[in-house]
Amino acid sequence: MNQRNLPEATTAELVDAAPPTLHEFLPSDAFGSVGPSVVDLQLIVDATFRVSSVAAQPDGCDALGHSLLDLVTSPVRQGLREAAERCVATGSTERISIRLAVAPQIELAACMRPFESADGTGLVLAAVENVTQNAASDAEFQLEVQRDLLDVLDVAIFSKDRESRFLGANEKLLKALGVEQLSDALGKTDYDFFPAEEAAHFRAHDVAVMSSGEPVIEMVEQLTSPDGTSETLVTTKLPVRNADGDVIGVIGYFRFVTDAIETKQELRSLEGRHALALQASREGIWEFDLNSNMVEVTERFAELVGLDPPVAGRVSVATLSNIFGADGVQEVLDQCLAVVKNPALHVEFKALQMQTDSGTRFFEVMGYPLVEDGEVTRLIGTLAETTEDVQREHELLYRANHDALTGLANRHQLFVRLNEELDANELTFLLYLDLDQFKVINDSLGHGVGDELLQAVSARLSAIVDDEYLLARLGGDEFAIVGRSVGASAEILGEAILEGLSTPLVLGDTEIYTSASIGLVYARGNSRDAIGVLRDADTALYEAKEAGKSCIRTFEREMRRKADQQLRLQNRIRRALKHDEFELHYQPIMCAESGTISGVEALLRWKTGGELHAPAAFLPYLEQSGLIVPVGEQVIRDAIAQFATWITSTPGGQDLAGSLNLSRVQFRSPSLLDVILETLGEHNVSPSQLVIEVTETAMSDDVNNMVETLQKARDAGIRVAVDDFGVGQSSLSSLYELPADILKIDKAFVGRIEGSETQPVIEAILAMARAVGLTTTAEGVETQTQRAFLESAGCDYLQGFLFGRPVSPAEMTARLRDQ
Ligand code: C2E
Ligand code: CA
Ligand code: CA
Repeated sequence: MNQRNLPEATTAELVDAAPPTLHEFLPSDAFGSVGPSVVDLQLIVDATFRVSSVAAQPDGCDALGHSLLDLVTSPVRQGLREAAERCVATGSTERISIRLAVAPQIELAACMRPFESADGTGLVLAAVENVTQNAASDAEFQLEVQRDLLDVLDVAIFSKDRESRFLGANEKLLKALGVEQLSDALGKTDYDFFPAEEAAHFRAHDVAVMSSGEPVIEMVEQLTSPDGTSETLVTTKLPVRNADGDVIGVIGYFRFVTDAIETKQELRSLEGRHALALQASREGIWEFDLNSNMVEVTERFAELVGLDPPVAGRVSVATLSNIFGADGVQEVLDQCLAVVKNPALHVEFKALQMQTDSGTRFFEVMGYPLVEDGEVTRLIGTLAETTEDVQREHELLYRANHDALTGLANRHQLFVRLNEELDANELTFLLYLDLDQFKVINDSLGHGVGDELLQAVSARLSAIVDDEYLLARLGGDEFAIVGRSVGASAEILGEAILEGLSTPLVLGDTEIYTSASIGLVYARGNSRDAIGVLRDADTALYEAKEAGKSCIRTFEREMRRKADQQLRLQNRIRRALKHDEFELHYQPIMCAESGTISGVEALLRWKTGGELHAPAAFLPYLEQSGLIVPVGEQVIRDAIAQFATWITSTPGGQDLAGSLNLSRVQFRSPSLLDVILETLGEHNVSPSQLVIEVTETAMSDDVNNMVETLQKARDAGIRVAVDDFGVGQSSLSSLYELPADILKIDKAFVGRIEGSETQPVIEAILAMARAVGLTTTAEGVETQTQRAFLESAGCDYLQGFLFGRPVSPAEMTARLRDQ
C-alpha cells in the first residue's frame, strides 16, 4: 500500500505546540488534556418543523413528533425559523446558536441544512454543545464531567491540524484507530492507521472542509477497523478557526452505524447517504505536486482511468493528457492555477471526457489547495466517473425532444424551433401534414401495421426534407416541417413530399399506398406565437382535406374567419344540445298501392330564437365536431319513443314503419346498434318496424365497419334503406352489393320526371331493384304527374310535399288518427 508522505514532525513538537483554539465549539483547553463536551444531536424535521427522526439526543429530550419550535427556548425561536427559511430557499447550510427548553443553560452551536429523503423534504439539525459560557463555574467538576461525557458518548471524536495530524481524540476514536492512549495517535495521520485509499479519502474531505470553510454533515463513509472488518460510519466534520477566523484544522465526530443499519429505521434515514458512501468508494484520489509537475494517484484512480498496470503511483500531466485529451486536462490545469493564485477557490470540472472504443466516458474532478508556509504547493482532489449520470441525462434530454416511435423531433422540439425562428424575425414556414388514409389502415390492418407505416413515412420524409429544416411528428399521423422560407422553398418542399408519398410504401411484403394533405402557413416576427401559427396551419390543412385531399393549401385570412365562424357555430350547437333545442319533425311515407300512410321519417330540426333550422344549416358541423353522436342518440331515443306511441295508439299503427337517418360518423361509435336495440326493447317496438336510412356514399367508404354494423342490424330484423340513391358515385351495379332492404330514389331524379329525361333512368333503377329484391321509395314527390309516373313504373312507396311536409309530432298524430 502506498504511504503518502506528510511533512515530518516529531511527536514532542506537536505535544508542545499549543493546540488550536477550538473556540467555536470547545473550551479553549479542550482536546488532549480535557474532553470537550460534545453532544451529537441530530434531528430531522419536516416542513412544519415536526421532528420526524432523532439520531441522538440529550437526556430527557423526547423530541419525536414534537414541533422543533416547542423544543427550543422562546428567544431562539425566531432565529431558528429564519435560518430554516434561508436553508430551504438557498439550499445552504446555516449555523445558528440554540438552547433547548429541557436544558436552557447549555448553548448549542448548531448546523442546519436541507435534507431530502424518501419521506419528503425536511431539515437536519446537528448540534454541538458549546460550554464556553459555563466552563469557568466549577473547573474541577467540569473537567470530570466532560471527560466522562466524552468517553461515555456514543460518538468518536477527533480534532486534526491543517495537515490532518491528530491533535485530540476520545476513547471511541482511539479504539477505532486501534491504539491504547492518546499519545499513540498524536501527530499521526489516518495514513498511519488505515489503508491508503481510505486515508486518502478522509484526507480529501478534511481538505475540502478546511478550504471551503463549510462543514460536512452526516457523510456516510467506510472505515477498516483494526481487526480488518469494514465499518460504516456517519461522520460530521467542521472547520476550526483561530481568533482571526482563519481555518486551522478540523474537528469531527462519527457514529458507527454498521449494526444500526440492519434496523429498518436507520436504513430509511440513511438511504440517500448510502449512495454517497458508494460514490466515495468509487472516487479516485489525486494529488498534484506543483513543483515536480507530477500527479500522485491512488489505485482506484489508476483503475478508473485504465492505467497499466492499475496501481497507485506517480503519473505525468502528459500521460493524463493522453488519457483524457489535452483540452480537458488543460481545463483542469487552468483551474488549478487559478486556485494557486487564490486558495479560496477550488477545482471543479464536471465535463472531463475520455474517448474509448465503446464511446465517451465522463468524469468529474474536484480539487482543493494544500497551503504550506502560506503558499499553495500541492492540490489534492477526487476523480469520479459520471458516465452513467451523463448518459441518463442525455437520454432524458433525448426523450424530452423526440418522438419514441419514429425518432423524429417531437411537438416540444417543434415549438422550440418555431419560436426561435419567429424570434429571429425571419420569414418562417410551417408545413402541417396529415396522412389521408391512416385511420383506415390503422383500423383495418391493426396498430402494428399502423406503427410500421408511420415509421416508413417518417423515413421517406426524412429523405426528402433537408437538414436545415426541422421535421417533427406531432402525434398520430400528423407531421410538421418548420424552416426559414426562401423564395418558393416551402411550396417546392410540399410538392416534393406529395410526390414522394405517391410511390407505395413497402411494409414486409405488402405495398401500401398513402397520400397526405398539407397545410402551409407563413409567419414572421415575434408578434406571432407558435400556437397561433400551428392553429393556422391546421386550418389550412383542413381546407386541403376539404379540397379533396392529397394537396397543399396555403393559409389565408379568409380561412381563419371561416374557421372561427365554424367554431362559434360549434359552440352554439353545444349549447343547443344542453338546452334541448333539437327536436324531431315527421314526414309521412305513402304506400303507392293503398294510398295510405305506411311509414313516417323522423327529420331533425334546430329550434333557436323562435326559428326552425333544417339540417343543411347545421348537420355538417354536427358531423365535423362529432356532436352528431350525442345528438344522434337523442334522435334514436325520441324517434323510437314516438314510433311506439303511434304504433300502439293509432289505427293501423301496428303496421307502421318508423324511419330514422343515421350519419356515417355515428357508426364510429361502437355502441350504436346496442343503443338502438335497447331503445326498441324499452318501448316494446319490434325491430321489423324500424328502418334506418344511410346514404350510399357513406357506405362506399367503409371506414368503420359500417357495412358490418348494418348487416348486424339486418340480422336483428331492422330494415336498412339506402338514402339519396342516384346522387354521387352510385352505380347500378352497386345495387347488388348493398346490405339493404329499401332503395330511396333521390329527389333530384324525381324532380326532373316532367322533362322526361330521367324517366328511363328511374325505370331502370326500379327494374334492377326489383330484380335484387329491394323495396323502392321515391323521395321529393311534389306533383301528380310525378306520382302517376312513379306508380305506373312500379315504385312501392312515395314521399314528398304532395303527401305532406315534415310536421311536428302533434300534427303527425292528428294525421294518423284521421286516416
Ligand atoms: P333526407 O333523409 O333525404 O330527408 C329528406 C329531405 O327531403 C328532408 O329535408 C325533407 O324535408 C325533404 N323533402 C321531403 N319531401 C320533399 C319534397 O317534396 N320536395 C323537397 N324539395 N324536399 C322534400 P330535411 O329535413 O331538410 O333533411 C335534410 C337531410 O338531413 C336529410 O335528407 C337527412 O339526410 C338529414 N337528416 C335529417 N334528419 C336527420 C337526423 O336525424 N340524423 C341524420 N344523421 N341526418 C338527418
Ligand atoms: Ca332520409
Ligand atoms: Ca333522401
